[in-house]
Amino acid sequence: MKTSKIAVIEGDITQQQVEAVVNAANSSLLGGGGVDGAIHRAAGSGLLEECQGLKGCQTGDAKITKGYNLPANWVIHTVGPVWKDGTHHEDELLASCYRRSLELAEEYNIRSIAFPAISTGVYGFPAERAARIAVKTVQEFLASHPAIEQVIFVCFSSHSYNCHRAAVEEIIVSRSKP
Ligand code: ADP
Repeated sequence: MKTSKIAVIEGDITQQQVEAVVNAANSSLLGGGGVDGAIHRAAGSGLLEECQGLKGCQTGDAKITKGYNLPANWVIHTVGPVWKDGTHHEDELLASCYRRSLELAEEYNIRSIAFPAISTGVYGFPAERAARIAVKTVQEFLASHPAIEQVIFVCFSSHSYNCHRAAVEEIIVSRSKP
């Protein structure tokens, strides 16, 4: 599914031919399971070495490294919120992850970027709610930052894919109809 600059696919983010991939990291930035583990395995040990110099990252913020053995030139590491009950700023922090990642991308003249479904694995954020926040935040950013040409939501399950497709349909497609 592709809507203007936004695409939704089901796949593995480590294989994406984009300038930057986003990593759903933890605050240590020293690797972990899920997408973080997959990115570190595919990038090789140079990534961990560079991450060791970053001194961690706060929830809702993002930091950038090179991509090493990945097809992507850059990895943008962001730390999503752990889902508690929705009353602990989870929505704002998740939106901030997408926004800060895109701000860094723009700063580094990156034109294409792939996101995983941040916080929806071990961190337990409900997939549908997270997808809506992801699509809305990206859409709003792109509207005022034309230098970014392509954003791909790389979903690791059909459920995640369906949530992102539905969010694109609800937030972008239906609202652009006359
Ligand atoms: P978090 O701790 O932020 O929840 P996880 O890595 O546990 O991070 O999960 C985030 C999302 O990334 C989940 O939807 C998970 O299914 C997905 N994921 C795991 N591996 C990959 C991968 N190789 N490519 C894309 N998405 C992935």
